Amino acid sequence: MEGDVTIEVSYSTINYKDGLAMTGAAPVVRTWPLVPGIDFVGTVTKSEHADWKAGDQVVLNGWGVGETHFGGYAGRARVKGDWLVRLPDAISPERAMAIGTAGYTSMLSVLGLERQGVKPDDGDILVTGAAGGVGSVAIALLAKLGYRVIASTGRASEADYLKALGAADIIDRNELSEPGRPLGKERWAGAVDAVGSHTLANVLSMTKYGGAVTACGLAQGMDLPASVAPFILRGVQLIGIDSVMAPKARRQEAWDRLAKDLDLAKLDAMTTKIGLADVATFAPQILAGQVRGRVVVDVNA
Ligand code: NDP
Repeated sequence: MEGDVTIEVSYSTINYKDGLAMTGAAPVVRTWPLVPGIDFVGTVTKSEHADWKAGDQVVLNGWGVGETHFGGYAGRARVKGDWLVRLPDAISPERAMAIGTAGYTSMLSVLGLERQGVKPDDGDILVTGAAGGVGSVAIALLAKLGYRVIASTGRASEADYLKALGAADIIDRNELSEPGRPLGKERWAGAVDAVGSHTLANVLSMTKYGGAVTACGLAQGMDLPASVAPFILRGVQLIGIDSVMAPKARRQEAWDRLAKDLDLAKLDAMTTKIGLADVATFAPQILAGQVRGRVVVDVNA
């Protein structure tokens, strides 16, 4: 591949987008043939880029890797040095991929709420898609930062898991998934949404005056059948979250904050480790909402 840094990959992961790429459920793969895997961690073996030298531990998320550029499901990768982030000392390579693109996106979402001025004293924070990757990491992060978290899930059986991550309350996602009213009772000061569609519309309609909602995902759908009422009557902010093309400084900030604000015991508790050959089995499962938390792929196993 084109690029100026060669990396020996140690771990990759399965994100929702990898599920789409592996199954072909959406046109994520845009060059054929392609090695999928939208993220990886590894050690630089060769570099013509000023920022990197052999032996550096680096993380890659997005930039079209696993879509148009050979990705993380391989022992070796060649990418642009500008795409790489230095792995913080406090995070091991395996844990970096337990976090993965999903967890880094959770951190971007929390940073989005913080920038909007949402504070623990303002009220509860809702996390949708709670038992998935983005949701699980978001709950752990928000709880550690002192927020009271409400988890929305379709899996009542995961209540104990979500409480162990730090959720104070759990609601059934069916409460949010059907067409709703333009404005509802004010229930939360903020939300991290990974689901989109009617869920996001209802989340907005129940956000308190001056609150903020981050939108990163489309697990229910890509549509947004909402009204402007929450924006014009309650001053609610809707914050878009993109991990793929996020500028380098924002990425480094997110990884540095993950090193500081993510409880590693909780991260370990939400992570399943698999080998490269298992990726094909897990890809359809993540799209079906059957994967709990995060999945690390040991590309050498
Ligand atoms: P996961 O599959 O791990 O989590 C998604 C969760 O959403 C599921 O676990 C489930 O949670 C819930 N869910 C699934 N289907 C539905 C449905 N039909 N209606 C309502 N809820 C549903 O995926 P990830 O955490 O990896 O990704 C979550 C979303 O965020 C995806 O859409 C992904 O594309 C997006 N994303 C976007 C990024 C960006 O840069 N903007 C980066 C990373 C992810 P439960 O069982 O608890 O209800």
